[in-house]
Amino acid sequence: MGPCPAVSLFTRKAKFLLLLALCLCVLAWIATLTNGPVKTEQEPTLPQVQNEGKEDAELKLEEGPEKSSVIRNQLDKPAEDKEEQEEQGTEDKATKASCPEESPLLRGEMKLSFKPTLTLGQVEGENQAVVEGQYEPADCMARQSVAILIPHRNREKHLLYLLYHLHPFLQRQQIHYGIYIIHQAGDSTFNRAKLLNVGYLEALKDYSWDCFIFHDVDLVPENDRNLYTCENQPKHLVVGRNSTGYRLRYKGYFGGVTAMTKEQFFKVNGFPNTYWGWGGEDDDLRIRVQLQGMKIVRPLPKVARYTMVFHKRDNGNEVNQDRMRLLGRTPQMWRKDGLNSCSYKTLSVERPPLYINVTVDIGMPPSAARVKRMAV
Ligand code: BGC
Repeated sequence: MGPCPAVSLFTRKAKFLLLLALCLCVLAWIATLTNGPVKTEQEPTLPQVQNEGKEDAELKLEEGPEKSSVIRNQLDKPAEDKEEQEEQGTEDKATKASCPEESPLLRGEMKLSFKPTLTLGQVEGENQAVVEGQYEPADCMARQSVAILIPHRNREKHLLYLLYHLHPFLQRQQIHYGIYIIHQAGDSTFNRAKLLNVGYLEALKDYSWDCFIFHDVDLVPENDRNLYTCENQPKHLVVGRNSTGYRLRYKGYFGGVTAMTKEQFFKVNGFPNTYWGWGGEDDDLRIRVQLQGMKIVRPLPKVARYTMVFHKRDNGNEVNQDRMRLLGRTPQMWRKDGLNSCSYKTLSVERPPLYINVTVDIGMPPSAARVKRMAV
């Protein structure tokens, strides 16, 4: 006999309800699994990453200007555009350390060579860091910016030898420098002093040089400890040269190569413009310096040595027979004859790799001008 039909119906209903309850439990459990834990892990994650980034940036921003600018670039946008990169370059420059007081590259006395086969191309090849006559050390900030002024006419070979020795010499001294060749146009009498005044005025149009070296084209320095920098007094660098047995020519000698700051040279109103031909202009500058209460300083004789490249007296640079008379008038003349009265016409300024070439018309001595006027 089978179970009573009422009991069997009850059992079937109970089983169904149990199954339903079980399903609901499982669904509820799944629902808690999908919503709950994912939400709580995700929500803190995003802000955490952003906060970390900001905190990191702020932390590094406080560490120093170099790092902060890099970080700012990374946060804002990549430093792709040229202007930003240039700014970056300027900052790098500003943060370069000063070159040491004594350059570690100095070698002291050097063996000079004057090969007849030397070419300008060779000198250019050996000095590729020189751009348009200027150079500055790559890894440190030079202590002085120095313009080397070389008056010149028809002395190509001397100029070549000088450039060959001078560029590496100056680079070993770790200075920022520019070499200016002041070329007198025409064939009237040579005037070294006026060319040097022109060089000073023209070089200052390029850059505010701290120091000026007034340099003869035929003198080559023998020792790189003879520093081409300025002191707090005018400096005379040629104590001795081979042609005079390496002895100072006379106590007040101030010729060949001299160094004066921009201010010292301005104070004495530069060189006189009125010495045409050879001699006297360097003595005039010494008198100007003394009249201003300045004292000439010199490096040690064993360092301040030069080789003079042999040459005969140039045509157009005859001895100035009037020089003693002119020297007697310097105390009365220095204020009116100098930088403030230097009239000239710049014919060209060229910038080949190794120097700045200024070609200039500086006129002629008054006697020649008179002859010319009479001939017209
Ligand atoms: C001249 C100078 C020259 C010196 C050395 C002097 O008589 O006046 O200009 O530098 O001799 O040669």
